[in-house]
Amino acid sequence: MNNFNLDALAQRFRRPQYTVEDYVKGILSGDRSILSQAITLIESHLEKHQQIAQQIIERCLPHSGRSLRVGITGSPGVGKSTFIENFGLEIIQKRQKLAVLAIDPSSQVSGGSILGDKTRMQLLSVENQVFIRPSPAGKTLGGVAQKTRETIILCEAAGFELILVETVGVGQSETMVQSMVDFFMLLLLPNAGDDLQGIKRGVMEMADLVVINKADGEAILSAKLAQRQAANGLHLFPAKASGWTAQAVLASAIEKKGLSEIHQILQKYQSQTQQSGFFAQQRAQQSRYWLHQSIQQKLQAAFYQNTAVYNNLINLEQKVESGEVSPFYAAELLLNQFLSK
Ligand code: GDP
Repeated sequence: MNNFNLDALAQRFRRPQYTVEDYVKGILSGDRSILSQAITLIESHLEKHQQIAQQIIERCLPHSGRSLRVGITGSPGVGKSTFIENFGLEIIQKRQKLAVLAIDPSSQVSGGSILGDKTRMQLLSVENQVFIRPSPAGKTLGGVAQKTRETIILCEAAGFELILVETVGVGQSETMVQSMVDFFMLLLLPNAGDDLQGIKRGVMEMADLVVINKADGEAILSAKLAQRQAANGLHLFPAKASGWTAQAVLASAIEKKGLSEIHQILQKYQSQTQQSGFFAQQRAQQSRYWLHQSIQQKLQAAFYQNTAVYNNLINLEQKVESGEVSPFYAAELLLNQFLSK
């Protein structure tokens, strides 16, 4: 091993330096490796990576939009990965290209993740027409969600026609997911009431489709009962702006039952809302929402990264805690200082 040249080895394995042009070309030609590297730039905290990422996104934007974006949520253990794996296999049999993205609200709290720890969707991940990307890590849920939204644009430009955005059913992350998808699906278990499953009323209200999963074996009867309960619950919510009536269906992800019916429901939703104009209208509204989200995030980051403001903030924090200064006045002082910089 005397001739072993570490430099030469490092050279061989060093990432090629792509230009924005290379990234865009690669993405538009459906190259999953380049797509993946571009997403890594989106997820990077380095300013120079962010700059390249933004240019790639701008260039891909005109080629994006032609997909159905579907949010999938449900408590841990309800069968999300099993569902996505078998549903996904069915989708690619129909010659559709599928991207699976995740938003994991636990990643910024614990550093670990509910979604990412296990080896998931092994059969699906080896398929050529499939792109699977775990949740980006991030300090705030808003930041994580924004990266996912940018990732959606690149996936669409790369030709993925169905984009599944998965999250764990704990409340806050669903609102984020709903703001980036066309259709929202909630997975429930057969034998537990909504409260037991930790699903908040608001999440149920967002659902365009409730899937009672694990409707197999001895659980079939209780699944039917859960289906009726869910259907009754859905009726109580006000009519949706989309004109779509949410329904509850049975499925067994493991036995691949009910999956093609769910695919048909998705297609029906897409054609119905495209015809009515709601589909485009909702996407326009979502873009406006993300513009405002993005402004808020950038302003907030600029504020906290300003050293003089930050030092004063530490000082004022103590005064606010001791009751010397009101939090409102302190905020105003700090904002004035920030704005007059
Ligand atoms: P996730 O945490 O929501 O992603 O759930 P998983 O897909 O990891 O599934 C949790 C457990 O439920 C696993 O042991 C699966 O094999 C099982 N499971 C998933 N779907 C079904 C189903 O349709 N029927 C039955 N009986 N078990 C299922």
